[in-house]
Amino acid sequence: MNMSEATHFDISGLRGELLHDEPMSRHVSWRAGGVAQRVYQPADLADLLVFLRQLPADEPLLAVGLGSNLLVRDGGYCGTVLLMVGALTELRMEDGLIYAQAGVPGAKLARFAANNNLCGAEFFVGIPGTLGGMLAMNAGCYGGETWSVVQRVQVLTRGGELIERTPQEYDIGYRHVTLKQHSDEFFVGAWLKLGQGDVEAAKQEIKVLMEKRSASQPLQMPNAGSVFRNPQGEHAAKLIEACGLKGRRIGGAQVSEKHANFIVNTGGATAADIENLIGEVQVTVQQQTGINLHPEVKIVGEKTT
Ligand SMILES: Cc1cc2nc3c(=O)[nH]c(=O)nc-3n(C[C@H](O)[C@H](O)[C@H](O)COP(=O)(O)OP(=O)(O)OC[C@H]3O[C@@H](n4cnc5c(N)ncnc54)[C@H](O)[C@@H]3O)c2cc1C
Repeated sequence: MNMSEATHFDISGLRGELLHDEPMSRHVSWRAGGVAQRVYQPADLADLLVFLRQLPADEPLLAVGLGSNLLVRDGGYCGTVLLMVGALTELRMEDGLIYAQAGVPGAKLARFAANNNLCGAEFFVGIPGTLGGMLAMNAGCYGGETWSVVQRVQVLTRGGELIERTPQEYDIGYRHVTLKQHSDEFFVGAWLKLGQGDVEAAKQEIKVLMEKRSASQPLQMPNAGSVFRNPQGEHAAKLIEACGLKGRRIGGAQVSEKHANFIVNTGGATAADIENLIGEVQVTVQQQTGINLHPEVKIVGEKTT
């Protein structure tokens, strides 16, 4: 098989698409980083189950949504990436709840809720990730948080077993979610419980939130949103700006002039440029303020030697 050649596994019963040596820069919003050995985009949930049951037990596995909070180092990811976006896309009303699969983007979810006269999901519009990524990160903004509207989730284990879990089974905090009992699994869907609302008011709120975003964020350049979590009682952006780091560059990576907690790819940034700049910001802020900044973005894969 050639590099990046797509293969359809009709013969073995798989209906999705398998890519080899696939540049992850195509799948992450920073548009930078190394290749993944394999990327599998299932046709649907049933297909994903079949794929997992065939996968060797020791194969490293990484679930990826829209890659809006992810950096794959330049040495690449040695394993299989499961691409949820464009794959797990079901979205429907079920017994008064929204059932959405992990690959559904936040903006689609927000609009679906508004169109069904439900309120409390408007904040999803500002998060350019999938439901799976938002569950993994407990993503949130403007006072809303993903897990505050979750009634239960649907997860898939490495072995291909489909399980439902309640929020009580997780430790959930600010941009933090871990399953209390260890299990190798990932999110494939969730049931969301929202209040009755006014569709026009919800649509107006969505419009306002979108305008707020484009006024305050450097959306014209590839980025991954807020790089650092806000320390207790502080704003990472304010600390970074106060340390004079706005505009600081390493290679093609730059601390945004518009929003200091964003690092933008000005063109041709490597994952190392971005990771080194993250490190430099951490060291400078620590030296000047005594505060440790912890990355919100997830960094995976191998460094180049
Ligand atoms: C312009 C911009 C603005 C942003 N604004 C916000 C904001 O306001 N609030 C906020 O919280 N975030 C924000 N983000 C960050 C990002 O959108 C969120 O963290 C989002 O939840 C990531 O979703 P994703 O599908 O892109 O996940 P990915 O980036 O693909 O993955 C992120 C992590 O989640 C894991 N993951 C992905 N899918 C699954 C799954 N199905 N099961 C288990 N684990 C999974 C991945 O392995 C990885 O560790 C912003 C990003 C950008 C680019």
